[in-house]
Amino acid sequence: MTDCLFCKIAAKKIPAKIVYEDDLVLAFEDIRPQAPTHLLIIPKEHFASLNDVPDEKESLLGRILARARRIAAAKGLSATGFRVVLNTGPDSGQDVFHLHFHLLGGRKMTWPPG
Ligand code: AMP
Ligand code: ZN
Repeated sequence: MTDCLFCKIAAKKIPAKIVYEDDLVLAFEDIRPQAPTHLLIIPKEHFASLNDVPDEKESLLGRILARARRIAAAKGLSATGFRVVLNTGPDSGQDVFHLHFHLLGGRKMTWPPG
């Protein structure tokens, strides 16, 4: 998608602080961090939200979660814990319509979320 912010980040057309990249997945720092560690993990391929990922791409969702765990470990968060958030659609507050998982850690979090 030419007019998608995160597609542009994936294509390196706009800058981001990239912390991990492979053939399918990119992780970069959130521009407005809500925790000491706040990363966004995205597929390089454009899907507007979880609602738009076809069943035949379900392995991509597994890949992203597996990488989230690996990145969390690299950030030293395995023992203290971390939170992975996937906002989907209007009620969730999703702002950017390119599928992205938030990886948050480094502070104690509360439940339920706001
Ligand atoms: P969501 O509300 O789940 O759609 O989250 C979108 C996230 O993208 C927010 O946490 C924003 O701070 C973040 N964000 C927006 N623009 C950028 C950008 N250019 N680089 C990094 N993060 C961004
Ligand atoms: Zn996109």
